[in-house]
Amino acid sequence: MTTFREIRDSRLADETGTLHKQADLAVALCYPSPYHVGMSSLGFQTIYRGLHNLPGVTAERAFLPDDLDEARRLSEGLCTYESGRPVGDFSVVAFSLASELEIAGMVTCMDLAGIPALASERAAHSRSFPLVVLGGPLTFSNPVPAAPFADVIVMGEADALVSVLTQSLREQPERDTLLADLGRRPGFYVPSLHGENAPAIAIAPDRYLPAFSQIVTPNTELAGMFLVEPERGCSRGCAYCVLRRSTGPGMRVVPPERVLSLIPSGARRVGLVGAAVTDHPALLPIVRALVEAGRAVGVSSLRADRLSDELVGLLARAGTRTLTTAADGASQRLRNQVDRHTRAEDLLRAARLCRAHGMTSLKVYVLIGLPGETTADIDELAGLALELAAHVSNLSLTVSPFVSKRNTPLDRQPFEEIASLDEKLAHLRRQLRGRAHLGGDAPKWAWVEYRLAQGGFSEGLAAAQAARAGGSFAAWKQALGG
Ligand code: SF4
Repeated sequence: MTTFREIRDSRLADETGTLHKQADLAVALCYPSPYHVGMSSLGFQTIYRGLHNLPGVTAERAFLPDDLDEARRLSEGLCTYESGRPVGDFSVVAFSLASELEIAGMVTCMDLAGIPALASERAAHSRSFPLVVLGGPLTFSNPVPAAPFADVIVMGEADALVSVLTQSLREQPERDTLLADLGRRPGFYVPSLHGENAPAIAIAPDRYLPAFSQIVTPNTELAGMFLVEPERGCSRGCAYCVLRRSTGPGMRVVPPERVLSLIPSGARRVGLVGAAVTDHPALLPIVRALVEAGRAVGVSSLRADRLSDELVGLLARAGTRTLTTAADGASQRLRNQVDRHTRAEDLLRAARLCRAHGMTSLKVYVLIGLPGETTADIDELAGLALELAAHVSNLSLTVSPFVSKRNTPLDRQPFEEIASLDEKLAHLRRQLRGRAHLGGDAPKWAWVEYRLAQGGFSEGLAAAQAARAGGSFAAWKQALGG
């Protein structure tokens, strides 16, 4: 049995960059997934630092416990890492939501903290509860299912809006006037005033770029890695993607000298993260400078059509053993149809570069269930995978069912039947004859994501019901009425 205090003390001892500050306005900054996920989020870390940088404001982190049953059995509640203070004692509790399924984690966090999850329950109560603020990547597509739990939602890029929010908090001590004030400002969604009509997302001025790590820790998915964002957004137009150029201002590029200047001299491992890092026009000089300084380098979102011999060679020198890229659509016809345009030749070239530079594995992300997909498309995918497998020691396909998102041209497209997706996966597995590892999201969980991605208040309430019923798929199915 390990207590929260023991886990927290051990993790804090492993961190570099933890911030401690006493201030009048203290925000409990919560991540509705466990620590190792939350601490990999650059957005979460950026808001943590942004709050600390504001005069008279501090922030302390809290996470969904790793072992929920144990946390409930020990009645530990939900406490912050920095001071161990109960989250329910803060005047403001903020959640960063990356995905639809984290709505359930957020409700669980509030239950553990003793905060009524519904904003309407908090408002009707005789005692006062913290102001609950939401933000994060989910707001780029559809935050409405999360809205019944929020007093206010920061839409889109929150970098500049945290100071607007804290300023308003100081000027408006009464909750009603505070919400009325925020509801008039761009980028703030106040569900009690706006209902299910979320306002447009905010875009942070370029001077807030790039985001970069505040805390480096070995206890994350990207262990011990200093993360920096050389670009934000994407100029491409994939019809299923909320990061496509039409959702925001396209790709914003940070000059290489600025990126390099932010990396601490002691950082041995550097992650370059963003939606389209390989589209950065100066990526090669950045990676070259890092590798020549003896650092290990990881690059997210490698586009197969942007891989050069020199880039893959540098990544191999920097310690990369697995080349990760995406095909998305199962066939060339589907990729063209959704404006993805990745070509089979690009993927085959990636596999050859992988082998030429001694990398052991190639990992390819694939979408199935795009509108109009047939078994012939799955057969084409299997054929391509067998060709790729001939070039590399280990091929891994991470297959996710297509989920239609708001703010994209494919909004409102139906979700393929779970049984049909399961059959396509079984068919693909048979065709691959063990020559590639098949992973990815199970279709049943993609269906839950779809219902929330396309849902409103009632789907959010169903998420709370499912979370409190144990969070199994059966619980979600019953709550969503599927
Ligand atoms: S899927 Fe990738 S390449 Fe396409 S628009 Fe989104 S971020 Fe850009």
